Amino acid sequence: MSRVIVITGPSGVGKGTLIRLLRERLPDLGLSVSATTRDPRPGEVDGVDYHFLSEADFDRLVRDGAFVEHAEYAGRRYGTLRAELERRAGAGEPVVLEIEVQGARQIRATLPEAFQVFIAPPSGDALRERLVGRGTDEPGVIERRLGVAEQELAAQGEFPHVVVNDRLHEAAEELTALVQEALAGPGRLGA
Ligand code: 5GP
Repeated sequence: MSRVIVITGPSGVGKGTLIRLLRERLPDLGLSVSATTRDPRPGEVDGVDYHFLSEADFDRLVRDGAFVEHAEYAGRRYGTLRAELERRAGAGEPVVLEIEVQGARQIRATLPEAFQVFIAPPSGDALRERLVGRGTDEPGVIERRLGVAEQELAAQGEFPHVVVNDRLHEAAEELTALVQEALAGPGRLGA
């Protein structure tokens, strides 16, 4: 289970967009589809954006040891399914996880060879503007996410690589270069 790339950082920082650009540049990268108990947003498709689960189903999977990591985030639960990783990383295919910080810490403990990148906003104000501007969350949810974001930002020093998402395309280039280097590097992620 090597060749795992973890992209973490606060909600609204642009992880999803950066991963989309990263995968356009490196099309062999697979993306792990997470499980969550939050409701689908308009346009989200079960099995594509997330596996949308009830609390009871999520609990059952936790008990069955089906998650490589899982965490509660702003009152909802999120987790990476072992089967998603095994299917891809087990076949030697590099796979990207887009997860919040608690999950990234768990991966650091259980899969220390995974390559971790923290995506940071240029400022706290920029993060608020993005969360409000993307219009996917209710005001109460945004406030909750901003509260969590403060704690997440405080954790960025734990991560060996930090990409500041100020100008999107420059950040995408920087992230791509880091991931390419990690995948080409001897021993660790390089097959
Ligand atoms: P959202 O509800 O905006 O899709 O996701 C909320 C947060 O949960 C984001 O920071 C996202 O990266 C994170 N997240 C998504 N999937 C997972 C997962 O499988 N595990 C963990 N720990 N966090 C996840």
